[in-house]
Amino acid sequence: MTRQRYLTKSRYKLAAECPAKLYYTGKKEYANQSLEDPFLEALADGGFQVGELAKYYFPGGRLVDTLDPVDALRQTDELMKSKDVILYEAAICFENLMVRVDILVKNGNHIQLIEVKAKSFDSGSGDPFLTNKGSIVSGWKPYIQDIAFQKYVAEKALPQYTFSAFLMLADKNAVCPTDGLNQKFKVTRSANDRKHVVISGALTEQDLSMPILKKLSVDGHCEMIYGEETELDRRIYEYEAWIRFLAEAYEKDEKIKKMPFPACHSCEFKASEEEIARKLRCGFRECWKESLGWGDEDFEEPTVLDIWNFRKKDLHMSEGRIKMSAVTSEDIAPKSDGKPGLSASERQWLQVHKAGSKDVEPWIDRASLKEAMNSWIYPLHFIDFETSMVAIPFNRGRHPYEGIAFQLSHHVVHQDGFIEHKGQYLDAVPGKFPNYDFVRALKAELESDQGSIFRYAAHENTYLNMIHRQLCEDAEPIRDRKELCSFIRAISKSVRSSDILWAGPRNMIDMLELVKRFYYDPVTEGSNSIKQVLPAMLNSSRFLQEKYAKPIYGAKGGIPSLNYRDWTWIKFENGKVIDPYKLIPNMFQDVSDRDFALLSDEHGQIREGGAAMTAYCKLQFEELSAYERDEIAKALLRYCELDTLAMVMIYEEWRDLVW
Ligand code: SF4
Repeated sequence: MTRQRYLTKSRYKLAAECPAKLYYTGKKEYANQSLEDPFLEALADGGFQVGELAKYYFPGGRLVDTLDPVDALRQTDELMKSKDVILYEAAICFENLMVRVDILVKNGNHIQLIEVKAKSFDSGSGDPFLTNKGSIVSGWKPYIQDIAFQKYVAEKALPQYTFSAFLMLADKNAVCPTDGLNQKFKVTRSANDRKHVVISGALTEQDLSMPILKKLSVDGHCEMIYGEETELDRRIYEYEAWIRFLAEAYEKDEKIKKMPFPACHSCEFKASEEEIARKLRCGFRECWKESLGWGDEDFEEPTVLDIWNFRKKDLHMSEGRIKMSAVTSEDIAPKSDGKPGLSASERQWLQVHKAGSKDVEPWIDRASLKEAMNSWIYPLHFIDFETSMVAIPFNRGRHPYEGIAFQLSHHVVHQDGFIEHKGQYLDAVPGKFPNYDFVRALKAELESDQGSIFRYAAHENTYLNMIHRQLCEDAEPIRDRKELCSFIRAISKSVRSSDILWAGPRNMIDMLELVKRFYYDPVTEGSNSIKQVLPAMLNSSRFLQEKYAKPIYGAKGGIPSLNYRDWTWIKFENGKVIDPYKLIPNMFQDVSDRDFALLSDEHGQIREGGAAMTAYCKLQFEELSAYERDEIAKALLRYCELDTLAMVMIYEEWRDLVW
């Protein structure tokens, strides 16, 4: 018997991104850059905790405990016979549409549909879902569409009831009422190795006395979604017609053709070269071949989607000028901004020009870079933070999704050229708020001299600002509050939202900004992520290749390291230097190499720092043996060390090129 192909809420969400994706989803023959293990994502954003906590705000509910649709519908029908009932994961079906509702509250003829999301909102600032002009905020739209779809299906399937729809979200302003609430939600593995969330120790009345999650009515917002029209291939669909069109295409397994658009760049159905060689099908190529008549050779040419920070992608694609070779100097209009190095438009044009002339040589503004380097004070300090956000706070008085800074790495380059991995800090003790000890450790690393400090991108500055605010607002006594705050102000600058403005005398230097203005390697294809810049540089730099081809890292008389011994960073495969991040083994025993690669890939679907964040969450929430904990901690330390070593290598290459 063939299984009914339902348009579910997750498939509808996928179709809202691009209707062609419905055809590829669930097909093993297509490459898919989404995580195989959905639990991993829930782990990193706290989704599993939020979902469990939400049930405690609706006690006494019955769980529809099966993944099988037929069984789930049967169980739901049975339970709905009660006049008043609360259901978790209720199944509702109408024709070829099917939804599972996180929490369903039935009181007589009225039903509340509650969708729980691991997202936070600011309860202090009006309707979080609407812009000043009254339209739905784009970031919230997928969530509103999701609950609107559930309400639509429920109203069709159960016309004898009235419905109201809600999103249940973490309130950023809520204050955690107790210590240790977070640690009561644990992930365990059952005999068949499936992961479950269990509550270790009963939740007390006090734990639930100040709700961290709030239920927000979204009926009006659903109406706005129902009033929207969708255009595809010059045809306009009203909401209901659009849903039917999607459901029918999915049911019949027919592809909905969609003209290429900018979001194709990050389509999860884009296969890598290696996947294509393994004969996995590439949904991206199939779409583009069908719509544009392209052959395999066309995909070897760069497109407008590869141009860094290019705002006119939409326009070019709609005009059919998709290849980078169709972009002219008039399209970019490169113009200096009067500062040293490249302006954004000049950098874009450099990229297009180099691609057009097949020039793969890195570009460097030696004079400007030299001038900047001359202003640096030795010893030079290279730092990197690993951070996370936890949905349910660790301690009483803290807020949901407050940032946690749990790890740092620190390399030093001395004036005489001596390099050392000088320090590190890792605090993943379950249930401990690490931020203040983290800043103390950072202060101890940096306070003994006045050398320049380097970060890569804004992340470190953002987190120091956040910890500064936490220190200022914390009602608990903190013995060194004043010293920590003045240290933070000395090495950072205030962010826009800050009440106090500062720019410290040792304000960290952002290497990403230096890359953007003074250095461009065509091999990075416009990406300035350190995870792209470093491997590209290792391939172009004779200096780095010669130096790091020897096992000098962590060797006696070589570069002192806290986590590596006699390590060789330069290894070749097929004539190319292997990405150093790929030389380090998978951080986790229970995560497939494929999922680990996705977690670590900053080009992919997962947010930046995915692997470290996942590791931290595992150390917090999973029941692990002492051996497993130790292995994850060691892997975290090795990864973070490579992050700061990467910055040092970039510095070394620049020094070699400039002097
Ligand atoms: S390649 Fe583009 S059109 Fe095709 S499924 Fe992906 S996003 Fe949709």
